[in-house]
Formats: sequence, C-alpha cells, structure tokens
Amino acid sequence: MIGVVVLGSTGSIGESTLDVLARHPQRFRLIGIGANRNVEKFAAQILKYRPAYAALADPAAAGELAARLGNAAPGTRLLAGPEALTELATLETAECVMAAIVGAAGLPSTLAAARAGKRLLLANKESLVMSGPLLMQAVHDAGATLLPIDSEHNAIFQCLPAGSRAGSTPKGVRRVLLTASGGPFRDWSAEQIAAATPEAAVAHPNWVMGRKISVDSATLMNKGLELIEACFLFNLPAEQVDIVVHPQSIIHSLVEYVDGSLLAQLGSPDMRTPIAYALAWPERMDSGVAFLDLVKTARLEFRAPDPQRFPCLALAQAAARAGGLAPVVLNAANEIAVHAFLEKRLNFPGIASVIEDVITHTSAGPIGGLEDVLAADAEARLRTQERIEMLGGAGRGVRAGARG
Ligand code: NDP
Repeated sequence: MIGVVVLGSTGSIGESTLDVLARHPQRFRLIGIGANRNVEKFAAQILKYRPAYAALADPAAAGELAARLGNAAPGTRLLAGPEALTELATLETAECVMAAIVGAAGLPSTLAAARAGKRLLLANKESLVMSGPLLMQAVHDAGATLLPIDSEHNAIFQCLPAGSRAGSTPKGVRRVLLTASGGPFRDWSAEQIAAATPEAAVAHPNWVMGRKISVDSATLMNKGLELIEACFLFNLPAEQVDIVVHPQSIIHSLVEYVDGSLLAQLGSPDMRTPIAYALAWPERMDSGVAFLDLVKTARLEFRAPDPQRFPCLALAQAAARAGGLAPVVLNAANEIAVHAFLEKRLNFPGIASVIEDVITHTSAGPIGGLEDVLAADAEARLRTQERIEMLGGAGRGVRAGARG
C-alpha cells in the first residue's frame, strides 16, 4: 500500500485525486488531506475517506471543523495552521504527496515534500515558478521524484525518452511545444475582451478548474507560467519552449526531436489522466477518464497565440528569459491582480497593465535563497495592491482594450 497525502483536497485537482485514489483501494491509502477553509467540503471528505490526518490552514476554520465533526471522526487527527500542511507533507507514512494548493500558499509544503524525498506530484505550478532553482535542487539533493501534474508538462514527460527524470535535460530534444486552448476569449475581439466579466473569464470552454487558474487561462498567463514551469522541469532555456493554440484541448503537448519527429500525447481533457499517470508511474492504471474517440473528434486545429489581445504571455516570456526573481515578481503581481479582477476591483485588461507596471518598477536580482523569494514576493504583492488601489476601482485609469 502506498501512503498518499493530498494537499488542496477541496479543490478541483484535489477532488480529482481523491476520485482516482478511491478507484484503487488495494493500492493506495489516503494518509492525510489538507485545505484552507472550506469546512463543509472538508468535513464531508473526512467522513467519506477517513484519513489519519486532516489539516486546515485557516485556524478559525479548523476550530469550526472540530466543532462540526464532534466525535464523528475518531480516527482522524485534526491539525490547524499553515505549518500543519508542511507537517502532512513530511509524514513518514506518506510516500507520495499531491501538491494541489493554489498559489504561493503551496510553496512551503511543496518544498518540504521535496526536501523529505517524497514522490512529489506537482500541480501547484506557482511554487515552481517562484522557486524553480530551489525546488529542483531540493528534489535532486533529497532524491525525491518529481512528477508533473499540469496536463501539458505531464504530456511532455510522457513523450520524453524512456528513463527521463524531471530536472535533467532530455537528449535529442529540439524544443517542446505547449498547447493552449486559448481560453474563453480566444475568439473575442479586443473590445469584447476589454469588457470581460469574472463570470465569463471563469467559464472555460474545455476544462473545469479553480477560479484563479481559469482567469490565468483567459489571460494566457497560465501558459506563461507553464512556460516557466517547463524550463525548470525539463532544464531547457525559454527559447526551446514554444506555445501553440489548439482549441480542442485533445493534444496536451508535444516534444520535437532533432530528427524531425514530433511526439504528442492525446486524451480527453480530464485531469484524472495525468493524476493517475503520476500516481502509478512508471506503470499505468485506470483513471476513470472517457476514452478518446478520434473519429468523433475529427478535427485538430492549431494557430499562433495573439500577443496583442493576450499581452500576459509576453510578460511571462520576458520573466522566463530574465530568470532569477523575475518570475517571482510576475507570479505575485498576477495573483494579486487576478484576485482584484475576481472581486471586480480591476478590469480584465488591467490585469496585464498592472503586472507590467509592477515588473517595470521592481528590481529582480538573482535568487540566493528562500528568503530572497519570500521578500520579492511580499514586495511585489504590496506594489500590486498599491497600484490597484491607485487606479481606484474597476477599470479607472487602466487602458481599455488590448495593449500594444
Ligand atoms: P482550486 O481553487 O479548485 O483549489 C485550491 C485548493 O487550495 C483548495 O483545496 C483550497 O482550500 C486550497 N487553498 C487555497 N488557499 C490555501 C491556503 N492559503 N492554504 C492552504 N490551502 C489553500 O484550485 P485548482 O485545483 O484548480 O488548482 C490547484 C493548483 O493546481 C493550482 O496551482 C493550479 O495552477 C494547478 N493546476 C490546476 C489544474 C486544474 O485543472 N484545476 C490544471 C493544472 C494545474 P479551500 O477549498 O479550503 O479554500
């Protein structure tokens, strides 16, 4: 039995992971789950899966959880506070840790799992974007196994030469191609995009995901973060990572080899495939995902991304090339800007404008250690907040329409 901890269990990836694990009770044992403050869903998960440990980062929510459960879950030890997630990530009985907390909040527990030499299933791309060199070093030093969950990186990993490991440069690879659905505004005009609401932004055409990543997908920042993620995971320079818009989301990404071969991984757009792949690796197991009917699929289209309507992509490409703390600043500014957009304090084009402004006015040197990452992250968040407050409400002072 393989002991598994799922961090971010109440989220979209977390729930898909619990679904896959439940299909294989002979193979996996759920040791622990962790989330932030969704007491209702978390309590239901505890009662259904009966993990040995359950941790909520928000102490008030943890108190509420204990009161709600009463004596109903005697076999589950309840923990509270952000450090409890780190504790779960390093439990001796857990061989495998799913890192599926959203945003920078996932960084400490992800790093801890790597340092503890776990099999790390990485969905929390923000931790790699923020601290790629540190995380990859920790994986190397502790002999951890890093398996990408992001469908694109998982696809690339599947298309790499046998025996490839995250962090080492794959042999014979000319470039990797990340596919992008293009998001809900793929075919919208610049004028329409300028007036996009949070409701429209989170309505992704192909994938069901959390709100933050859905907005990232609408701005194409998600693809930018994935580009940075790919550079660290596969030890490639930004110039060897390309992006192609593929509206059907059937090809999850491709690897081009020096001999002209282009290998792709295809499948239904359902995160349970990469999750099951990473849980079973190097074997394969059932994921519950519908099999692909190629005849029904019929058409696969490809086009270049439009940098005019989706300026976030270029911002991320520049941060990837700059390296050091630049991706940290990008990620922090993005998280704050997306949050403000979801709360209707910033309009859609304002997300890119504010991030660009913060990047321009924040110095981003090399990464010495985690303290540098956390300091740059905090500074960029503060600046972004100030900038949004200065703009004062949705759209005021922000250039409407696409920039450039
Ligand atoms: P969701 O918004 O659906 O879920 C987020 C999870 O993180 C919830 O369990 C939430 O707990 C928890 N969480 C949020 N803030 C904190 C915090 N401060 N401390 C501890 N836990 C916290 O996100 P997704 O599942 O969509 O995404 C998770 C990660 O996976 C992201 O990094 C995303 O980029 C990545 N990813 C997601 C994909 C998808 O298809 N959804 C695809 C590829 C990558 P609570 O519910 O209690 O607030």
